[in-house]
Amino acid sequence: MTDTAAGQVDHVLAEDRLFPPPASFAENAVVATQQQYDEMYARARDDRDAFWKEQALEHLHWFEPFGDVCQWDAPHAKWFVGGKTNASYNCLDRNIDQGRGDRAAIIWEGEPGDTRTLTYNELKSEVCKCAAALRQLGVQQGDVVSIYMPMTPELVIAMLACARIGAIHSVIFAGFSAESIADRNHDASAKLVITSDGLYRRGKVLPLKKTVDEALEKSPTVEKCLVLRRTGEKDTPMTKGRDVWWHDVVDSQSDDFPAEPLDSETTLFILYTSGSTGKPKGIRHTTAGYNLWAKRTFQWVFDHRDDDIYWCTADCGWITGHSYIVYGPLSAGATCLMYEGAPNYPAEDRFWDLVEKYKVTVLYTAPTAIRAFIKWGDEHVEKHDLSSLRLLGSVGEGINPEAWMWYHKKIGGEKCPIVDTWWQTETGGIMMSPLPAITATKPGSCTKPLPGVVPIIVDETGAPVGKEHGGMLCIDQPWPGMLRGVWGDEQRFIETYWSLVKGKYLTGDNARCDSDGYYWIMGRIDDVINVSGHRLSTIEVESALVSHESVCEAAVVGRPDDIKGQAIAAFVTVTDPNPGEELRQALRQHVRKQIGALAQPDDIRFTAAVPKTRSGKIMRRLLRDIAAGHEAVGDTSTLEDYTVLAKLREQDA
Ligand code: ATP
Ligand code: MG
Repeated sequence: MTDTAAGQVDHVLAEDRLFPPPASFAENAVVATQQQYDEMYARARDDRDAFWKEQALEHLHWFEPFGDVCQWDAPHAKWFVGGKTNASYNCLDRNIDQGRGDRAAIIWEGEPGDTRTLTYNELKSEVCKCAAALRQLGVQQGDVVSIYMPMTPELVIAMLACARIGAIHSVIFAGFSAESIADRNHDASAKLVITSDGLYRRGKVLPLKKTVDEALEKSPTVEKCLVLRRTGEKDTPMTKGRDVWWHDVVDSQSDDFPAEPLDSETTLFILYTSGSTGKPKGIRHTTAGYNLWAKRTFQWVFDHRDDDIYWCTADCGWITGHSYIVYGPLSAGATCLMYEGAPNYPAEDRFWDLVEKYKVTVLYTAPTAIRAFIKWGDEHVEKHDLSSLRLLGSVGEGINPEAWMWYHKKIGGEKCPIVDTWWQTETGGIMMSPLPAITATKPGSCTKPLPGVVPIIVDETGAPVGKEHGGMLCIDQPWPGMLRGVWGDEQRFIETYWSLVKGKYLTGDNARCDSDGYYWIMGRIDDVINVSGHRLSTIEVESALVSHESVCEAAVVGRPDDIKGQAIAAFVTVTDPNPGEELRQALRQHVRKQIGALAQPDDIRFTAAVPKTRSGKIMRRLLRDIAAGHEAVGDTSTLEDYTVLAKLREQDA
């Protein structure tokens, strides 16, 4: 083997299992035949404007028609230029106009077990009231509203109310600290904050409003705070003149508030990325292109059908919640289950209890959850009837092939296709994914690009690397859901995403395209490990470790090594309560057998947990510092659990 060229990544882990789509899916599928996909893909690529014009006219409501379909002056794109639409109208009024007013839009269950169902008619009424209240509180078109709320229907109502009046929402995951809220309020110049008195988490109440109050001391731009009563805390502090209760100002409003016709390129929201790699940045998305992308990708990938009960387990604080709890499914008139709390409250079978109770047909969750379920044990799954499920999805990180197999067997009963969806906050919606009726799946591969997505894989000079080679994943053409900028930081937008190859979007991930045209995400560019000139992907080494029966989760990083450049350090959580030298040796051998001597970890450290972002992703950059033997530096504001880091440090001492 020769040294790998700069920017390329070696592919070392073989995976040749193939799962054909079930025959039952072809009937009535949204994308039913390979030919249908091929034609859509070719048209979106070769006749972009005509394809998207058709899509936009058919799938969005237009108050006023658009002129140009796409004006592309790289890296700046404008879609459906001059048209007027409204995302809240597309999610609500349009469904009602089309006869879906009495259909359940949201079936909600709170952590304590309380439930609510909102039809499209009812959801629209609530959104209208909230929109009217926001107006009354002085929110104008273009103002930024921060939303820091539990996963209640009011969170969705607040987002759609902003969209209805042309205010920009910035949803902040309700696990973030006062400091993080203040940073985001400041960066976005937020004018109003919507929150609740408290939030239920594993049976406890977290006082959200108190956290917001702390943030507001450092948020001079915020004039008002709208507070939902959720947990009924007795001593919720309310500042006179600034804070108002939801039930005082929203409930009494008229339930008819017309959606504002908004220019296609009106900013719909900003969303700060989770920060696996550094200081959070406010990703900016606009109205028409994003809405269309969220809707169509939802329909294609989840093969949406009228009788589906669809459940995306993400939080609305992440892009997955924006696109696949709110804008995608609601524009498509879907019935969505929404759950407020933890997956292990009151017990480890809560998700499966919900699937059984509501007869969920499509489930969309994350590898971090799947790994937790595996760790908690199959007995929690086996207690429940999961036969309503017909389709499973995964998002957020690469899914290790053995976790994929568990999901396939234990949750999907070997009959449900798995859509492993690769995408980012920046892309607005799913970019690569199997289509359940036509794509034969390979565990660990996100398979093929959706219509409108033209991936290319390049080395450090920007030259394409060819099939079977790992390299940096870029996107060659503009697509409707692409980010329009980084809030208030044009420089960072250009440097981060557009400076490697002119006019091509740099994703920040490595990938490989195999000889069948299937894509395999190989992890983040920054996470590549360079051992003796060979550039290895973290996910491949981690997957080799996870394929050992004792390993639940693995995080792999490089640490400086005088001879090899970098040595591999692995942090693993195992089923064995007292792991020792024997298991360490066995794991080394296992990786050696799976991949080769080159990828055999030099250090293996057993740990109760690995550090993760609040969205549940392994935070390798902190582990790099620990593996190298120094303090973890850099931004830790998005870390989920500080004690994990502290424990790893203690082990070091
Ligand atoms: P930040 O950009 O601030 O570091 P983040 O990248 O974790 O945060 P997101 O936009 O939520 O924020 O995550 C997108 C990233 O998650 C992708 O770039 C990729 O690294 C990873 N990812 C998401 N889905 C998949 C998938 N199906 N397979 C592999 N990786 C995935
Ligand atoms: Mg990212």
